Amino acid sequence: MAFWGKQLVSYAKTGIEHCHGKTQERRLIQTNISVLIALVTILVFNLAFILLGNPGLIYSGLVQLPLLLLLPLVLWLNHRGKRHEATLTLFLLVMFDALIALMLAQGVTLGLQYYFLMFAVLPASYLDAKQWLTTALLFCSNLLLFGYFEVYGWQAHPSIAEVPTLTITLLRILMVGSCVTTVLVVILISEYYAAQNERELQYLADTDSLTGLPNRRAFMWKLERTVKDRRPFCLLIIDVDHFKQINDTTGHQAGDSALQFLASQLHAATQGEDFAGRIGGEEFAMVQFCASPLEHLTRAENLRKTIASAHPDLGAGPVRLTVSIGVCMATPPVSLIKIMAMADKALYQAKRNGRNCIQVAADQSPSQAQRQAVN
Ligand code: GH3
Ligand code: MG
Ligand code: MG
Repeated sequence: MAFWGKQLVSYAKTGIEHCHGKTQERRLIQTNISVLIALVTILVFNLAFILLGNPGLIYSGLVQLPLLLLLPLVLWLNHRGKRHEATLTLFLLVMFDALIALMLAQGVTLGLQYYFLMFAVLPASYLDAKQWLTTALLFCSNLLLFGYFEVYGWQAHPSIAEVPTLTITLLRILMVGSCVTTVLVVILISEYYAAQNERELQYLADTDSLTGLPNRRAFMWKLERTVKDRRPFCLLIIDVDHFKQINDTTGHQAGDSALQFLASQLHAATQGEDFAGRIGGEEFAMVQFCASPLEHLTRAENLRKTIASAHPDLGAGPVRLTVSIGVCMATPPVSLIKIMAMADKALYQAKRNGRNCIQVAADQSPSQAQRQAVN
């Protein structure tokens, strides 16, 4: 089963290497899967017609068989990167197929004209917006074909009149049902790709590409939600000390590695629902949810110590890397702007205090909360 699943996926993706972006991929997959649906539909109806044994129906199935040989052309075109040609070929082939089956044998007895409605609607989902003329032509021609056959009808092969009414009704249901199923499959593929596309774009919009941490926008959004949830928390703003010097002495590349190293330390320091982000060039922030102010401070201090003692190798031997941390405890109700400003102010105080230290915001019980670390 898994083997056939893999085969189906690789078949559906024929030519995907030529696509740029998810929408093109989705359209290509829709085209490839439609080839499969067309093949299966023709074969299933052929089998049903043979089982019913009516010469008119059998003839109606047989006249479509040459189309089976031409459908792989669509896959070949996709394989060669000719996506638009492949889609156009698919629609022309299936239109031609329906037309010959209807005009040479079935007439409008089984409701084959409803396929033209489907062929009118689907090109809008299969073709790019810049192919609007082709889309419009396919729409109009199929709508006209449907309208014509629906209004004027078409005589079926004489022997089809011998098929019992119930069988005809069942075949009509099968015919129209296969149209509806095909449209449903196409909608499901579109929805799946739209959701996947949105997830990827959201990830790109929220993530800092260098460190993989949430970027400023995503961090602030989470912080805003935390403030709105009225939960007590502690905000840490973490700034690398003398980072410009690190860049100047070890190079920008090593500077980037230092930021990645810090991101990994922050990530490792998060617990439970805590979250961290890169909110500026060499500035990070973290929200901690702890039981007590003392626990917040202990954790902030541990983070500082861990970074200071790590001496990461950024490519040219171990480097001393330290951070200063501004800490602000937030007990609801609090204002987001005020809490950021207080943590920022505390950070600048930590810098003035000599760096490589933590500093709690000014009006937050300095006697028990304020700590300074020495190397
Ligand atoms: P302080 O201790 O006062 O914070 O000093 P500092 O040198 O860390 O601060 P300053 O604001 O003077 O310099 C920050 C530097 O961070 C300058 C900028 O080139 C560097 N920087 C910002 N973003 C990146 C980045 O993505 N990669 C690298 N390698 N450097 C960056
Ligand atoms: Mg700095
Ligand atoms: Mg800075």
